[in-house]
Amino acid sequence: MLYLDNSATTPIHPEVKDAMLPYLLEEFGNPSSKYYTLAENAKYAVENSRKHIANLLGCDTDDIIFTSGSTESNNMILKGIAEYHGISENKHIITSRTEHPSVLEVCEYLHSKGFKISYLDVDQFGRIKLDELEELLQTVPTLLVSLIWGNNELGSLNPMDDIQKLCQKYKVFLHTDATQVVGKIEVSLNDLEGINFLSCSAHKFHGPKGVGVAVLRKDSLGLPIPITPLLHGGGQEKNYRSGTLAVHNIVGMGKAAEITLKNLKCNIEKLNSLENALKDILIKKFGNSIIFNNDTEQKIPGILNVQFVGINNEILVKKLAPYIAVSTGSACSSSKPSHVLQAIGLSLNEIRNTIRFSISSLLKQEDFKIFNDL
Ligand code: PMP
Repeated sequence: MLYLDNSATTPIHPEVKDAMLPYLLEEFGNPSSKYYTLAENAKYAVENSRKHIANLLGCDTDDIIFTSGSTESNNMILKGIAEYHGISENKHIITSRTEHPSVLEVCEYLHSKGFKISYLDVDQFGRIKLDELEELLQTVPTLLVSLIWGNNELGSLNPMDDIQKLCQKYKVFLHTDATQVVGKIEVSLNDLEGINFLSCSAHKFHGPKGVGVAVLRKDSLGLPIPITPLLHGGGQEKNYRSGTLAVHNIVGMGKAAEITLKNLKCNIEKLNSLENALKDILIKKFGNSIIFNNDTEQKIPGILNVQFVGINNEILVKKLAPYIAVSTGSACSSSKPSHVLQAIGLSLNEIRNTIRFSISSLLKQEDFKIFNDL
């Protein structure tokens, strides 16, 4: 079976599994315990992972807060900023129509608590328009901008460099959901001073599920930007996120980050060439009966969003399932018509004809031979 749903999740890299196993077995210490070797080993392992993840994201090690993944990081950051900094004059948050539900639903929740939420429209490929963002920043006092870096359905990249410059100019906090871009484009937060907060999950780059980070960066004076924690308790992770750390998962994420960084350039090239190969195969096989919904430029390599004209996507995905695993869109909201495709102006019929292929750099071009037998 050919797995082409890597935007939903990726298989664990074999070296990640090997790195994790000792922490599921003999190295079971709690990193918050003290003095004895098991605890010290666990603490060392956590801090070592933190370094690898900071290297991958190009930020400071102490900006990294471990969470259970991007859903939690998005909740923690948006609710945490809103609660700590939301005063009556600037209860305004800007986001977009193509965010993941873990941002959109939090915004709905904050709206119910009295925040005004502005949803930016997007262009035909799902990118926000900078002039609309700037107009809002100029006219409405704003607490936070939260914009996805790379879209999980279309792969489109938002112009993050320009977005962060605008947010710096207007002195507004910026959060980005980077879940889909880590490991697929270069992320160097030290060159993007205007990004204050970032979320990502390990399982999107061959790490384990159930672990991710919230990056909480310092302000221009080098001071932490305070946020109210989502989880209160034992005070782990500098009080930002209480709860015993999942050491095995954290070790897995660190190893995945190390491998990802080492191979980044080569993997980007590989993803691009695999994407081109898959595109050619689809064009040869289906010709005029397919339409690509995504752009060819400014996108995450390895994601293809394709309409099969006149074919119901659920039926197609089910028919392909024994041979090729693909999805009708995001695994997180697969029961509803995609809000992302609606935002780029596709009709319900066009959405019902669309499936997403997402490639991993662990694949080889020969793996696509299975399409010949369909
Ligand atoms: N944001 C984006 C863009 C995603 O693709 C996902 C996962 N599909 C999430 C957030 C949530 O990640 P997790 O399920 O690992 O919490």
